[in-house]
Amino acid sequence: MGDNAANVLQVYADKRRSMRLLLSNDDGCQSAGLAALAEACRPFGEIFVAAPDRDRSGASNSLTLDRPLSVETDERGFHCINGTPTDCVHLALTCLLDEPPDMVISGINHGANLGDDVLYSGTVAAAMEGRFLGRPAMAVSLAGRPPQHLDTAARVVALLVERLRTAPLPELTLLNVNVPDLPFEQLAGFRVTRLGHRHPSEAVTRMQDPQGRTVYWIGGVGDARDAGEGTDFHAVAEGHVSLTPLTVDMTRHGAIAPLQDWVRALEELA
Ligand code: MN
Repeated sequence: MGDNAANVLQVYADKRRSMRLLLSNDDGCQSAGLAALAEACRPFGEIFVAAPDRDRSGASNSLTLDRPLSVETDERGFHCINGTPTDCVHLALTCLLDEPPDMVISGINHGANLGDDVLYSGTVAAAMEGRFLGRPAMAVSLAGRPPQHLDTAARVVALLVERLRTAPLPELTLLNVNVPDLPFEQLAGFRVTRLGHRHPSEAVTRMQDPQGRTVYWIGGVGDARDAGEGTDFHAVAEGHVSLTPLTVDMTRHGAIAPLQDWVRALEELA
């Protein structure tokens, strides 16, 4: 092999060793899950952490448009932002990073993000905000409340990053990962899943505040309704790491043709 080819290969090998990973979450900068994610990702190269300065679970894909955002860098070099998970990844990609990262990873969330949870989840939203990069994005959640085995989820992240860097997923595929809260050795393996569904949320609690005004506290998530074989709920319940590929296209393609007929009749009414 000529020197030139050897050099090219060396450069390629170095490139493979050193990745640039953008990390975020919705539980906030101080979350133990974020620290565990950072530790799992550090061996792969350069990490850049941009996360909300407090718990913003349930923030979904919201952007803060009614006030400016500020960035505080803590003693670990984490960028803590007074905004939503989506704000954090958006700012990192558009302003804070000189070069686009190779991957966006969000988590490790304290608690599962299964089925309908993905609509409300700030963890999934942070990963989703990386979609315009055309690079892999991954949301990772640990299914305990409170979770016990962050080290298990961290080892799962390391395996997935290793796999993704040599075999990236198709563009615009977001991986929603849920890890059972078990010791790593007790995991049953990996399952590719679809989203299941939950029953409607628990009832809203109505109460009086100290001034005697009625206030409302939104309830927790409902139990699983569609949790059969093939769903993310089922995989996690059976001790498997659940990997659900998500897409941002919410179009109900099968309804386009029937809706066209429906609209034709509507035009006849007019
Ligand atoms: Mn959360």
